[in-house]
Amino acid sequence: MATINRNYLKLPGSYLFSAIGKKVREYESAHPDAEVIRLGIGDVTQPIAPSIVKALHAATEEMGNAATFRGYAPDLGYAFLRETIADKDYASRGCDIAADEIFVSDGAKCDCGNIQEIFGYDNRIAVCDPVYPVYVDSNVMAGRTGEYDPQTQRYKGVIYMPCTPDNGYTPELPTEVPDLIYLCFPNNPTGAVMKKDQLQEWVDYANKNGSIILYDAAYEAFIAEEGVPHSIFECAGARTCAIEFRSFSKTAGFTGLRLGYTVIPKDLEAGGEKLWPLWARRHGTKYNGAPYIIQRAGEAVYTDEGQREIREQIRYYMDNAKIIRDGLREAGYEVSGGVNAPYLWLKTPKGMTSWEYFDWLLSEVNVVGTPGVGFGPNGEGHFRLTAFGSRENTIAAVERIRKASL
Ligand code: PLP
Repeated sequence: MATINRNYLKLPGSYLFSAIGKKVREYESAHPDAEVIRLGIGDVTQPIAPSIVKALHAATEEMGNAATFRGYAPDLGYAFLRETIADKDYASRGCDIAADEIFVSDGAKCDCGNIQEIFGYDNRIAVCDPVYPVYVDSNVMAGRTGEYDPQTQRYKGVIYMPCTPDNGYTPELPTEVPDLIYLCFPNNPTGAVMKKDQLQEWVDYANKNGSIILYDAAYEAFIAEEGVPHSIFECAGARTCAIEFRSFSKTAGFTGLRLGYTVIPKDLEAGGEKLWPLWARRHGTKYNGAPYIIQRAGEAVYTDEGQREIREQIRYYMDNAKIIRDGLREAGYEVSGGVNAPYLWLKTPKGMTSWEYFDWLLSEVNVVGTPGVGFGPNGEGHFRLTAFGSRENTIAAVERIRKASL
């Protein structure tokens, strides 16, 4: 008789965004005239930039012509894209990363979720709290986290690293040494960043203890301040302790096109074994490559025109972030993030819980955000708004919140 992977049963309730979606749908069906503004889920709203659309068209034409048609892409990605990434994202920042250390994929979510497969099932993971849920959930599915304790809302086998107002939402080095450390900066959900000297401490800690840092840099393109590293490979010694994930989703609006990549240095080892060949094997066995036309679109992101266009889009979102930050601060809210990341992290007013504030915001001003507690117990009393809305909706949402009295 077939049985199931019972680890899946340890995952509590429904996924955060399904729970939010359900509440919003129920509200809208009860109030059909309400004009609900969504600043909750982190999806982009700006269309694909013209030079990238042009590259998509050109690649599509190639696919329709016998002389230029392409079948399966190389497992690890086309050389034209990997070489461009190595040059523009790494060499230009002084990072020593070769093209063949870059694994092209259809996005960072799959890579962040799948990477745990190449590590031992007895590895202890450490995550920030609050955290992007994929890191924990994928380890739950693999049976690496122990039982869920509904009382503490934590898995017994996971090391949680609190990110609170007291530490500026950046974690302290854990006293109990983890094997795998998930870090994400600029951070989703808090919008916090680590300065280079801070991240260097993590790299030194990992090298000293034989831990591997799984570094999610999906929001790298939003960094505006000096001294904030765009890649963990800007830190000395990262090649021997780090894997990095990148995404085209927020950088260039590829949430629907799907493109990302993972960097695994060839010298990186765990327990005396190299990790690069394991990920190459996994990729080759379970993945048949990102589509040619999407990889060509990814290449177009790095052209001068592509860069100019995506910079403009990022500026648009970050102007939204400023509108939210300034507007809510004027209304008396404590707000952080939104400077090097498209996320604003607010403290809920009057001691409301995250979900109480969610319900109030939805019913009183018809604005949807994300309850901080959905990202972990330390997110309680916090709330995330995103800068990915249209300008019009962003301004309207801030005005509504400012005018509403609690
Ligand atoms: N990593 C973080 C921290 C994210 O917030 C997201 C998307 O919201 C992803 C990864 C997923 O990126 P992708 O769209 O490339 O799968």
